[in-house]
Amino acid sequence: MHIPILLYHSIDTECADAYRRWMMLPSEFRAHLQVLKDEGHTPLTVSQLVACRTGKPKLPTAPVVISFDDGLRDFLTGAMPVLSEFGFPATLYVVSGCVGQTSGWLAELGEGRREMLGWREIRELHDAGIEIGAHTVSHPELDILPAARAEYEIVDSKRQLQDGLQAEVRSFAYPHGYASSVTRDLVRKAGYESACRVRHAFSSPDEHSFALSRIIATSEITADGLRDLLARPSLPVAPPVTRPAAECWRIYRQVKRAVRGLGPAASASLQSRT
Ligand SMILES: [Zn+2]
Repeated sequence: MHIPILLYHSIDTECADAYRRWMMLPSEFRAHLQVLKDEGHTPLTVSQLVACRTGKPKLPTAPVVISFDDGLRDFLTGAMPVLSEFGFPATLYVVSGCVGQTSGWLAELGEGRREMLGWREIRELHDAGIEIGAHTVSHPELDILPAARAEYEIVDSKRQLQDGLQAEVRSFAYPHGYASSVTRDLVRKAGYESACRVRHAFSSPDEHSFALSRIIATSEITADGLRDLLARPSLPVAPPVTRPAAECWRIYRQVKRAVRGLGPAASASLQSRT
């Protein structure tokens, strides 16, 4: 069975050019949800999907998950009105250390000052049936952090959100989708029941609960494009958790992070050797 877990970020009307791919207009988002409705999909939250995979209750015939990363304030103003119109649930992964502040980690895309949801708004969304999941404290690339630092990001984001919500937080999403076996283990040990990565692939009923594949729903995917994607699945179903290409990319990012930490002189020296 192909299970699409769609990943959105922002539903708004204005953004920096570099971020446009990640921002959908409310009309574009509505067109996506209309396709899901027309094609007979049953939207679930991530935790509902994981519960259904155990058979209680049974998985619907055409499940779909609508997920959002980051916890931007435009989820409330842009996405929620459209989700409510369709009566669809969603899972929203929130960067806990930025609640009520701005999206500093998006500065490179010209969106470092995008407003984040506040605690009262997050509680209202939770009460309205939106599942709130954790997305670390500060949105780092978890798989290249020292284990103790990664553990803090994973454990404290759960604690902060649970304190703010007064409810259990069951699901986690790896920033940028980056996760290693160590990261996945830390997430499991922190008491989460599931975690989402980012792969342009469908999930399946037997995919690893701490490595659920998601399809990035960018503004470049039109309603027709989404219909095609769902009707004639050309994407793979849940590729293996670890692939050689992913390992190489991790090593590259680790070196880059280490060089950045050493300062400009080391960076220049490294560049001169390559
Ligand atoms: Zn994110």
